[in-house]
Amino acid sequence: MSRLSHFTLPDGHVQIAFSGGRTSAFMLHQILEANSGLPEDRCEVTFQNTGREMPQTLDFVAEVGRRWGVMIVWLEYRAAKPLFEVVGYQGASRNGEPFDALIIKKQSLPNLHKKWCSAELKTKTAKRYLVRSRGWRKWTSAIGFRADEGHRAPYPDNRATPWLPLRAANISRADVSAFWRAQPFDLALPVVKGRTVGGNCDGCFLKSEAFLSAFSRDMPLRHAWWEGHEFARGHQFSDRYSRRELRQFMELQGDWALSTEGALCQSNDGECMA
Ligand code: SF4
Repeated sequence: MSRLSHFTLPDGHVQIAFSGGRTSAFMLHQILEANSGLPEDRCEVTFQNTGREMPQTLDFVAEVGRRWGVMIVWLEYRAAKPLFEVVGYQGASRNGEPFDALIIKKQSLPNLHKKWCSAELKTKTAKRYLVRSRGWRKWTSAIGFRADEGHRAPYPDNRATPWLPLRAANISRADVSAFWRAQPFDLALPVVKGRTVGGNCDGCFLKSEAFLSAFSRDMPLRHAWWEGHEFARGHQFSDRYSRRELRQFMELQGDWALSTEGALCQSNDGECMA
């Protein structure tokens, strides 16, 4: 069985969840290759924009669609019914507006133990679109979990059956990196130790303390969105530190803090689902 055969579309309706990262873009590419395109009557490629994506991610999503000739549906969460909107590249939020609306509605902040932002802004937003706009009742969801991410599991869903073709084809991070090295374009975000720096939401609470500290220093305007929400809500995105503390620590300590072992935790707290 060839590796590409694992990307043959299953029967019925199929959603391809494109996160805007290299791995799910690779998955999309392999599905296009294995099926000589996508049958539009039963397939949807969706990208759910939280508004906190880096501009490079938005550009990458648009370029993937253009270069590979595939229709990508850009979706955003909305607080008012039907709770989503189809926006497209030009209309995509670039300052956290969907995330703002969700936080205001919840009157709370997500954190490591309550990752409702991912569920609402990504998974449920796509689900609402597929049910309401496409009239789908059940479907298969292609999710870009690689073979070397065996710890990750899809959210249980009463409508979507997960399909993990990368895992079935034994695709690892090295395979994805090799693919992108051979392409004429790429996501314009750096890779450090195999991880994309700046993928998903810019200041996501799942990112390491060291990353978020450097982020407060290097992208103060972007950092301010996260610190502002903590100030407004009187809660924190992390049990361990506030964004204000991270910024102030960096103002006092600078690079020294990041190069001192143990001063700031280097580990991530997980990954966003979609
Ligand atoms: S990237 Fe982080 S902050 Fe953004 S939706 Fe996912 S878990 Fe939430």
